[in-house]
Amino acid sequence: MKAEIFDIQRSSYVDGPGIRTTVFFKGCNLRCAWCHNPESQSCRPEIMFYRDKCVGCGKCAEVCPNGLKFCTRCGKCELYCPRDARKLCGHEYTADEIFAEVAKDKLFYDNSGGGVTFSGGECMLQIDFLEEILKKCRAAGIHTAVDTAGHVPFELFERILPHTNLFLYDFKCFDGELHKQYTGVDNRLILENLARLLELGHPLWVRIPVIPEVNGTVEEMERIRAFLMSHGRPENVELLPYHAMGEHKYAAIGRDVRVFTAPSDAKMTDLRRVFEGI
Ligand code: SF4
Ligand code: SF4
Repeated sequence: MKAEIFDIQRSSYVDGPGIRTTVFFKGCNLRCAWCHNPESQSCRPEIMFYRDKCVGCGKCAEVCPNGLKFCTRCGKCELYCPRDARKLCGHEYTADEIFAEVAKDKLFYDNSGGGVTFSGGECMLQIDFLEEILKKCRAAGIHTAVDTAGHVPFELFERILPHTNLFLYDFKCFDGELHKQYTGVDNRLILENLARLLELGHPLWVRIPVIPEVNGTVEEMERIRAFLMSHGRPENVELLPYHAMGEHKYAAIGRDVRVFTAPSDAKMTDLRRVFEGI
């Protein structure tokens, strides 16, 4: 069995406790307007082209078996480009290949309370592979986290619950209409799944991207807090300030970018205060 993966980041400190390796699955069923990894959204591999790096040497067209008219992801243009202007985003890996990569840092995980995080995109869309790799990691004593937006049937959570130490669960906004407007989907299923996980008492961190135009008010955070507390107690609530660092990636895959306002430090402090003592 293989999965479509677009990145593997070692020594990450931002996707769960301790030092971690984060494995990014390709394909997502949401379309968040502020997404800083737009290359994660399509489940297919795609070529990213960084125009500002290109010197127009023509090597890519020369080596491409299809004259750059369509891509069969052979990777030659990336390999031969002298300026790293072309990047093939998305590669197939077996579970054994991913495990071999993840296991390299086991010592660091053990010493820091870290482990592996499966992220995306939405890693739960490739559930058969996810279940297999989670089992392998658990069998090797590696702490496992699954980063999800939660828009999947609860049966998928039930399959991986026994092999997942921690869920990192995104919470975009409480209002269903607003959620649909900015992510493309209603949040009913997402909230139902979150409620069930909290009621089960499974270790879970809630992660809220803060976008001032969408959810950046104390009132919205209070609504989210009230929802969480009515169903259980997450281990942690992380507020992640919006940033525009993914902007150049939109151009690289030929898409228009939508830019939002980055919240100030003072605003983040106010919003984080809502979750104190949770
Ligand atoms: S990856 Fe291969 S087929 Fe795709 S554009 Fe590059 S050279 Fe052409
Ligand atoms: S090989 Fe790289 S630098 Fe040369 S034309 Fe292609 S993208 Fe541009």
